Amino acid sequence: MALIVQKYGGTSVGSVERIQTVAKKIKAFKDSGNQLVVSVSAMSGETNRMAALARVIQDTPSLREMDVLLTTGEQVTISLLSMALQQLGCDAISYTGSQVRITTDSEHGKARIKSIDDHRIRDSLDEGKVVVVAGFQGTDEEGNITTLGRGGSDTTAVALAAALGADECQIYTDVEGVYTTDPRIEPNARKMNTVSYEEMLEMASLGSKVLQIRSVEFASKYKVPLRVLSSLVDNPVGTLITSEENIMEQALISGIAHNKDEAKLSLIGVPDEPGIAFKILKPISVANIEVDMIVQSVSAREGLTNFAFTVHRNDFVGASNILDHLRKELGAMAVQSDDKVVKVSLVGIGMRSHAGIAAKMFEVLHGENINIQMISTSEIKISVVIDEKYLELAVRSLHSAFELDKE
Ligand code: ASP
Ligand code: MG
Repeated sequence: MALIVQKYGGTSVGSVERIQTVAKKIKAFKDSGNQLVVSVSAMSGETNRMAALARVIQDTPSLREMDVLLTTGEQVTISLLSMALQQLGCDAISYTGSQVRITTDSEHGKARIKSIDDHRIRDSLDEGKVVVVAGFQGTDEEGNITTLGRGGSDTTAVALAAALGADECQIYTDVEGVYTTDPRIEPNARKMNTVSYEEMLEMASLGSKVLQIRSVEFASKYKVPLRVLSSLVDNPVGTLITSEENIMEQALISGIAHNKDEAKLSLIGVPDEPGIAFKILKPISVANIEVDMIVQSVSAREGLTNFAFTVHRNDFVGASNILDHLRKELGAMAVQSDDKVVKVSLVGIGMRSHAGIAAKMFEVLHGENINIQMISTSEIKISVVIDEKYLELAVRSLHSAFELDKE
């Protein structure tokens, strides 16, 4: 008998009819001899709807009260799903995060799970029940209700799977799995059968929105086999995210991620002297602005250099204002800012053992006359910043040059 944790996202439980459909699938799984723990999101649109209600009252409501509000969405779906299961003659019980002691830190709005007490869940499983647990929520040591950040139900499911030592954690969603790139940009994108934790982590942080990043971190840390699959088709296979050793045929490049939320800022002609990076980035970090790529050019003429970095587009205005100040303070020549840039990244653990991937990537972009503004690399990824008008062209030409459309 296998123990499976399943998670159904907002679309999959978006209406009473869909909840009934999901209940049928769950019952079939159970009837074929599995133990099941199911974690669910709120009905699609509900979390946003409630957040909008709060903003009518206050621009910046207290994060604690927001958590009390938003967690109600999941309480609706766990109870309805349990009822739908019971109606089918499948014994089921629902639990909120606090009832199964999903204990988190006290960072309201983005809390991290510290522990889960699996006793109650195991007892209910032993009684032959399907256990339905609210996603996205927990309580801190003092009993305050917390949430795990948007998309946090994925993380609940993986954490439950880790705590229970489940055989697999299945994330049911409205896409068929993880694709080689965004199918809306490249119709020839292929669903991957397997991908390593490490690659999935890069893809999630580089803009692939299939899974909450933290859920992948959790899966990787506790070696939980994680499968992403569609709740809208019959007998889905999906994509298995697992350890590198479990993947038989490792492709050179696994996927191409992109991020449209980038903005680039440069300080031109700053004195090339010790402490300059610190003097520029310190005020940026004090303003709580996260910096992604950083490029400092080799000293140009007369002891001057250029310093450039990227931030999220939401922080573009804030960062520009800081740089305008710094330009005067540091006696720099000019500030150049551009919020019409995107980041395109090639991801694959095959890069570790193969030279020439970067050169090929740059050759492809050159062939399309796309100017590269910034480059950054890690062991398993190469990212470039380019003008946003070339996003589609870059993704498509790289996808075919690296033969990601072929099996
Ligand atoms: N309901 C929450 C959200 O919309 C959590 C989730 O769906 O995973 O972000
Ligand atoms: Mg989601």
